[in-house]
Amino acid sequence: MSAGKVYFVGAGPGAPDLLTIRAADVLRQADIVFHDALVHPDTVALASKAERVAVGKRCGRHSTAQRFINKRLIDAARKVRTVVRLKGGDPMLFGRAQEEIAALQAADIEYEVVPGVTAALAASAELGISLTQRGRARSVVFLTPRVGEGEKPNEWARTAASADTVVIYMGAGQAGMIANALLAQGMPAATPVVVVENATLPDSRRLKLSLHDLPCVAALGMTGPALIMLGEVYREGVIQHADDVPAARRA
Ligand code: SAH
Repeated sequence: MSAGKVYFVGAGPGAPDLLTIRAADVLRQADIVFHDALVHPDTVALASKAERVAVGKRCGRHSTAQRFINKRLIDAARKVRTVVRLKGGDPMLFGRAQEEIAALQAADIEYEVVPGVTAALAASAELGISLTQRGRARSVVFLTPRVGEGEKPNEWARTAASADTVVIYMGAGQAGMIANALLAQGMPAATPVVVVENATLPDSRRLKLSLHDLPCVAALGMTGPALIMLGEVYREGVIQHADDVPAARRA
């Protein structure tokens, strides 16, 4: 019989002060924290009395297997009172939270989710461009081109082509493939695109380009997490720090 509870806590997009008060309270009470690689060290440090375990999952790098993470959460909840699973952004978006929740449910362990600011909202704040705009954009889709087992590879592109504003997570490394897939769905080559890397962090970068030029992003060697955002809302918006755009065009 377990006495512990697991909190899925959203750490926000990067800047440590974009954390909810509830998240900070839970972290202070934590006995053990399993955190993603992307979470800011100052956020992890709020869990001052906790054992802190990195279970990082950065694409292209070695990651702790999901099943192993599930098991560690269960084992921890059977030993201590407050277990935190700290995830970047919001836990319920592209964070594999459901697999961990299912494992806890199967083991009869209590859990609670504390939401966080997802990258798309942080990037929009930084750009000063609303995802929706009266008379121009009424629908937004958050998607990833990463496909799981048994999924059709290009379903996402059709969804993207039918939305007014599109925010693509985990896609910067596949910019060429994404551009081709969207063009093949009939999205105009002149569709405005903004790429935001490291939103809310001091080394944040924003690039403004078109769908036609999107493949250039691969040549920029982005190392931080990045979003690809597309739609008419980005046509006139003033993008600051867009110095890299000429380089992107040259590539
Ligand atoms: N649960 C997270 C998303 C995890 S998937 C959330 O709600 O934000 C990881 C992807 O999120 C990255 O590949 C990138 O596309 C995006 N991302 C996370 N942090 C970001 C940041 N600070 N700036 C830009 N994109 C970010």
